[in-house]
Amino acid sequence: MLISDLLYHLKQKMKKKTRFIQNSCDDKRVNNQLLNTINPPLFHASTVLFDSCEDLLKANAGEYKGAVYGTDRLPLQVMVEEAINELESGAITRVFPSGISAIQHSLLAFVDSGQHVLMVENAYSPTKRFSDRVMPRFGIEVEYVPGDIGAEIEERIRPETAVIFLESPGSNTFEIQDIRAIAEIAREKGILTVIDNTWATPLFLQPLSLGLDISIQSVTKYLSGHSDVLMGSVTANEACSARLTDYYRDLEIFAGQEECYKALRGIKTLALRLKQHQASALELATWLEKQPQVEQVLHPALPSHPQHKLWQRDFSGASGLFAMIPGDQYSERQLANFVNALQLFGIGYSWGGYKSLVTLGRYDRSSTNSLNGKYVLRFNIGLEDVGDLQNDIAQALDYLEK
Ligand SMILES: *Cc1c(COP(=O)(O)O)cnc(C)c1O
Repeated sequence: MLISDLLYHLKQKMKKKTRFIQNSCDDKRVNNQLLNTINPPLFHASTVLFDSCEDLLKANAGEYKGAVYGTDRLPLQVMVEEAINELESGAITRVFPSGISAIQHSLLAFVDSGQHVLMVENAYSPTKRFSDRVMPRFGIEVEYVPGDIGAEIEERIRPETAVIFLESPGSNTFEIQDIRAIAEIAREKGILTVIDNTWATPLFLQPLSLGLDISIQSVTKYLSGHSDVLMGSVTANEACSARLTDYYRDLEIFAGQEECYKALRGIKTLALRLKQHQASALELATWLEKQPQVEQVLHPALPSHPQHKLWQRDFSGASGLFAMIPGDQYSERQLANFVNALQLFGIGYSWGGYKSLVTLGRYDRSSTNSLNGKYVLRFNIGLEDVGDLQNDIAQALDYLEK
């Protein structure tokens, strides 16, 4: 009897309950048709089946090639990791459930108890909260350096310094670091360098090509681009790839299939979206700088930005997030009136999506900074018509005087 005949007879004898289960996972086909779609299928899986016991034994020994379990980087995850890896020009990339998770694990993967981290003070505030509250529990000290630091970082390096953590431009305040100078010093001293590259995206800054070791994205922002995904990525160069691979596997971190799918779809239109975000934001920043109610606009592509020359040297573009410092004469009440009067800007955290957003906070940096303590209005410029956005800001500025 042929095997196919045997299977046929077995199937006929099966209870409906059994047949139903058999049919639902017949091969990789659906109703006996192999679908050839443009977009990849989602695999929702905890268990991954082996073809044979021999394969299972290989998996037991850690010698099986491919995913052995649902936490083991299923195909869509591998696809999104490969896409980001190519964008960042890295050796390997791993994705995480959020940007902050990617940041936390990049620190935990590469710093040991008793070691020391130098971090820019303009880092994303949850990055600092983690550094201040969690890292000390593992015997790791995080010390802050100014957001516009360059070669002078050398004076802050200790024998136990393991990592230098950068974010350029920095969250909310947009200071830029001299990446090349810091990378060179760190290389000499065998210190690992990490950068949160979310603002520029790999399209406008290539940190690994400038000599840094690790680049992080909050994929939540421009890469996915639609405010409906939380994901982070860590891209490492060759020297750091083994440690990251092992750490990631040991912790069995993974990203959900739907999130990977949405991120991958977002990446396909990243270049097109960024072009528009860049053009609209620069136009609005240039216009805002001339408004009498505005003390200063913080945007690296404006010649008035203190590190504009560094931006020109290292970046190939600017994204759609910038801030403005209103005149000192306005009270918090008046600034809130301005924010509430904006019709096209949502009031909310996060950025990088198609909808324009605004936040209000305080400039909170070292006491030597003349902007310290001032109010900061941060704009995420979305994909709306730029003329409409300008009209909206113009009418809301009138509310500052009310
Ligand atoms: C939003 C953000 C993060 C964190 O990303 P999540 O995905 O929201 O956790 C990290 N760094 C910067 C600069 C960010 O703006």
